[in-house]
Amino acid sequence: MSESSEAENEQWRKTGILRPEDVDLPDEGKLEDNAIAVIECPQKIPCNPCEENCPVGAIKLEDLNAIPKVDTEKCTGCSICVQQCPGLAIFMVEYTGDDKCEITIPYEFELPEEGEEIEALNRKGEKVCIGNVTDTLPREKSVGDTPTLTIEVPREFANIVRSIRRKNR
Ligand code: SF4
Ligand code: SF4
Repeated sequence: MSESSEAENEQWRKTGILRPEDVDLPDEGKLEDNAIAVIECPQKIPCNPCEENCPVGAIKLEDLNAIPKVDTEKCTGCSICVQQCPGLAIFMVEYTGDDKCEITIPYEFELPEEGEEIEALNRKGEKVCIGNVTDTLPREKSVGDTPTLTIEVPREFANIVRSIRRKNR
């Protein structure tokens, strides 16, 4: 979440949906080095599996009800926090070549095939662009309870795409 989080929390409370401007992506250089966790958890609730399960201590909450923050210097891109978050509130973002990015998404529906072309959706569930599935992690392989998938989309949508819809379904 961005620093002026109180005002943004108010906006989120009205709609239930975060806007791109409510979320600070890590620096471009970091995103080019490796995938970094992007936490979109604006509600102050007593919850911290993300903090407890990060193997390098990259996630901190000031107290159990606080909004979690990621230390992007420490994050290794392992995605354990995505797999452990019961709120499906964590994503991984990595900048890849050719102005593309990979976004790892918690996904509890039937997983698509790797290589499958999908419709990439924004936080409102609206189609943004076409993407490709580059990886999937089924529930039985997840270290938490959350399956994930990773898609590749144009980099300009790194802070916009947050879900998918399978084509022709
Ligand atoms: S991706 Fe891994 S290293 Fe990074 S914050 Fe999540 S659990 Fe920690
Ligand atoms: S585990 Fe998920 S829902 Fe719980 S505090 Fe962390 S990001 Fe928020």
